Amino acid sequence: MLHSEDLRPDTVVVTGGRPDPVHDAPVSPSLTLTSTYRGTGEAREGDRGYGRTSNPTWEDFEGVLGHLEEAAHPALAMASGLAAVAAVMSLVPIGGRVVMPTHAYQGSQVLMDDACRAGQFTVTRVDVKDTEAVLAEIPGADLLWIESPTNPMLEVADLPAILAGARSAGVLTAVDNTFATPLLQRPLTLGADIVVHSVTKYLAGHSDVVLGAVVTSDPQLRERLHHHRTMSGAIPGAFETWLALRGMRTLALRVERAGQNALDLAQRLTEHPAVTRVRYPGLVTDPGHERASEQMDGRFGAIISIELAADAASAEQVVSALKVWTPATSLGGVESLIERRRRHHDEPDSVPESLLRLSVGIENVEDLWADLDQGLRTVKLVP
Ligand SMILES: *Cc1c(COP(=O)(O)O)cnc(C)c1O
Repeated sequence: MLHSEDLRPDTVVVTGGRPDPVHDAPVSPSLTLTSTYRGTGEAREGDRGYGRTSNPTWEDFEGVLGHLEEAAHPALAMASGLAAVAAVMSLVPIGGRVVMPTHAYQGSQVLMDDACRAGQFTVTRVDVKDTEAVLAEIPGADLLWIESPTNPMLEVADLPAILAGARSAGVLTAVDNTFATPLLQRPLTLGADIVVHSVTKYLAGHSDVVLGAVVTSDPQLRERLHHHRTMSGAIPGAFETWLALRGMRTLALRVERAGQNALDLAQRLTEHPAVTRVRYPGLVTDPGHERASEQMDGRFGAIISIELAADAASAEQVVSALKVWTPATSLGGVESLIERRRRHHDEPDSVPESLLRLSVGIENVEDLWADLDQGLRTVKLVP
């Protein structure tokens, strides 16, 4: 009999989080809907107690995600990805300093800026591609927040070097691993203290759930994050965690297919006359390719950003002309989504006006290409 620790990730997503294998047990996990738990009448440590503290359906999901990230403990599900970000921010002391990427998920940027304006802490922004520049800002910080690849610029940080620098300086580190998923990159094994996920994206994978998670191997950190979850009240829904685990059953297949589609489309897009730049770390010509090859598992995810030889209006016209691709924000679902990122007011000026972010889904790649190509043909090229 194999120990579950020996199972490979594409098996764990299928076998994990199921009821104990006893006669007549249901094969699939149950959805536990309850706000409280029966006790014995005595005061006892470790009882489930109340529905804001624990739920068996959360735990089915949390065990699988913790296993995939190679953590020593189960993950902690949170109400959303941003609730997970907020939980990590709660670890920063008042008056502290956070180092974070210039380009990162917009919600994380806004939340950090809000905390700055409220006088809770200060933020230093760094170009994550520039390892020396990141290392220079680490000493004296209270939290190093990293994304790699970054949203929406697909820049790749040298995670082992940066995380080792933070560790030797005694600085807490958190990596948002939403884009890569634990199948392609496991930041805890590269030296991170905490991994953050928007489960909304690839893990749940069907654009019908909003959910987040944090993962750590440090029992004290986990206890603090658990306490924050209970006391802030930003708890996950039981139905959301149940749906997320159901979605994760096919995570390995979805990541594989979407990644193949993305690589194929990225290569074709480099030849397209309307496209001036393709950002995708899977392309051998991408500046982050070598680094990503070393710290990811030889696959590079399914998000591509392209820049067009066009202004913002023409770029939006491309999006409007598409029929198979859905014009929408978000990413990581089975269906392909596309959007011009600068339409969001909070996106920094350093993101080009014509940049389109593509979340490549699992459709037939020829249909995705034909649609994209006809849309790009509407572009009035600017010289
Ligand atoms: C979407 C996203 C988040 C926020 O997650 P929600 O589930 O939408 O709250 C955080 N980080 C990244 C990289 C994301 O893409």
